[in-house]
Amino acid sequence: MDKFSFLDEELARLDSDGLLVNPRTVEGPLEAWVQIDGKNVLNMSTNNYLGFANHPQLKQAAQRAIDEYGVGPAAVRTLAGTNRLHLELEKRLAKFKCAEATLSFPSGCACNLAVISSLMGETDTIFSDELNHASIIDGCRLSRAKTVRYRHCDPAALDSQLHERRSGRRLIITDGVFSMDGDIAPLPEILEVAERHDAMLLVDDAHGEGVLGSHGRGIIDHFQLQGKVDIEVGTLSKAFGVVGGYVAGSERLIEYFRQKGRFFMFSSAVTPADTAACIAAVDVLESSDAPVKTLWNNTRYLKEKMRGLGFDMGKSQTPIIPLLIGDAKKAVQMSQRLFDEGIFAAPIAFPVVPRGTARIRVMISANHSISDLDFAVEVFRRLGQEFGLL
Ligand SMILES: *Cc1c(COP(=O)(O)O)cnc(C)c1O
Repeated sequence: MDKFSFLDEELARLDSDGLLVNPRTVEGPLEAWVQIDGKNVLNMSTNNYLGFANHPQLKQAAQRAIDEYGVGPAAVRTLAGTNRLHLELEKRLAKFKCAEATLSFPSGCACNLAVISSLMGETDTIFSDELNHASIIDGCRLSRAKTVRYRHCDPAALDSQLHERRSGRRLIITDGVFSMDGDIAPLPEILEVAERHDAMLLVDDAHGEGVLGSHGRGIIDHFQLQGKVDIEVGTLSKAFGVVGGYVAGSERLIEYFRQKGRFFMFSSAVTPADTAACIAAVDVLESSDAPVKTLWNNTRYLKEKMRGLGFDMGKSQTPIIPLLIGDAKKAVQMSQRLFDEGIFAAPIAFPVVPRGTARIRVMISANHSISDLDFAVEVFRRLGQEFGLL
């Protein structure tokens, strides 16, 4: 027994539970079809909703920014790492999201950690949807506030939890679109509860941006709640196709996060190239609603076919489609078989989703053509039968 033998034990345990993760290697640009582990497959695994990850206008903006500013910021934002482009992106995002101001972060994860931990402390209470993203859960832990998990998308349960805990600051947090189920938070009802109890409200719109609302402005636009939700966290790594995170809210809140947000103060920002590409993504979204419309046409088309075949897609209301399987090993096997047949769709298991709810997560993109989707439906039909899902 050496002092690291616990590593082998834990890895062996994960292996026997079917929970070892073996990421595949992407060998080319993210298009509908992508070269992965030496094979050309239909990509149904990435969050590249609008095809922006390899968009010519974004790439050109990134290349120009490298020529103009070089490759790295070489300091955290608060010391010397704030580039003119960061400020421009923040202005453009504020306008796009109809918020007073925004502040950008190295990632959506870092943003949640910073925002939650700077607002809340030991004597406060956070009310968090039980299926919220891991970075929200970690932000709650980092804040040391008491955290109450409320029943998934249940405003009545949230309301009664708020009745029970009245002391200190109170913050309600929900994902906008739940990343593993594809359902949409009942934000108007949650907002009503927040207002009734005078609690702060944070929505994490990582999977709503570029997807919901006019021109992909997100969940606030989808429900017409402009100016009503206190804090919105977003990511630039999904529909935006690049990398980075940001928080949107009042000038007052944003100034507070600028002074107190840990990962703004202690981690370097994304590069000039990333930032310029994100600005170009806002340009593209503002100038045309077409990619978002294509995304939704594709989503409706595939879901109708899959429903016709008899697949259980859970509560999905968005381009995130879970094919529920249950057993983690079976999900891994099915993903492998899909890959053999030309589809890259990742298996998702604990700890990303609760134990016993493993699934294949199918992600739709505006990049997919109708014939791509027809191809997918035919493969899903065959493997759905093979794995007893139909
Ligand atoms: C993906 C995701 C994040 C993290 O975003 P990154 O920019 O990849 O760090 C945060 N919240 C939710 C709900 C997400 O789905």
